[in-house]
Amino acid sequence: MSYIEHLFALSEKDVCSTQNRAVLRAIDESQKTVLYIRPVCKMWACPECGKRNKRFWTARAIYGHEKLVENGDTMYFWTITAHEEIRNFDEGLHYWRKGWNALYCQLKRIIPDFAYVRVFEHHKDGAFHVHFVTNGMPPNERWIKDAPRAKHMGYMNEAEKVRSKYKSGFYIAKYLNKAISNATWPRSARRIQPSQTWPKLPENAPESPYDWKLIAFGTDLDREMNVWRKRGYGVQTF
Ligand SMILES: [Zn+2]
Repeated sequence: MSYIEHLFALSEKDVCSTQNRAVLRAIDESQKTVLYIRPVCKMWACPECGKRNKRFWTARAIYGHEKLVENGDTMYFWTITAHEEIRNFDEGLHYWRKGWNALYCQLKRIIPDFAYVRVFEHHKDGAFHVHFVTNGMPPNERWIKDAPRAKHMGYMNEAEKVRSKYKSGFYIAKYLNKAISNATWPRSARRIQPSQTWPKLPENAPESPYDWKLIAFGTDLDREMNVWRKRGYGVQTF
């Protein structure tokens, strides 16, 4: 997100409640004004930012689905269930990370322009699922069952065509809701990941004309602002 997008995000009703957020400052010499913003924390664990992140990814899933279908692609949901011997999230994640690159290369050979967004689902019993919205299907049932399983990652237990972009958005939102409400989510684990080929949302804001600088934590902001005022600058905070 650009800083301007942070600004837009701040104007929404879900204002970030994380304390000790970074403060950024820019100086507009032409207007003799000093600007301060506090970007949102963007953390999934933050109630407001978690919701905002979910909205962003839901929008990106819908947008990507639309663009890929315009390209002539057919869209699918898949679920890969962790290997039956895996009953804890860390172990599952270990095999998933270890096996994914090789599996991805295999998939790219089978599915030209392979694109996906995937969401991790962490079950109470320690198992996990990985849910995909994607533009491709592996060629046959056997491959689906065997290839991920051979890498100890699990097996595909669900795959269906998805005809509506809103259904793709709903699917992503549904599993992100589960991820958000899970207070024990491991710190190192992602909730969601897109492929590099998944379409990006168009920029809705121009790049900031300002050069934003991070202000050191612990700076006495009131005092600093007063120094600027004494020098004849206006101060604006967002
Ligand atoms: Zn936040």
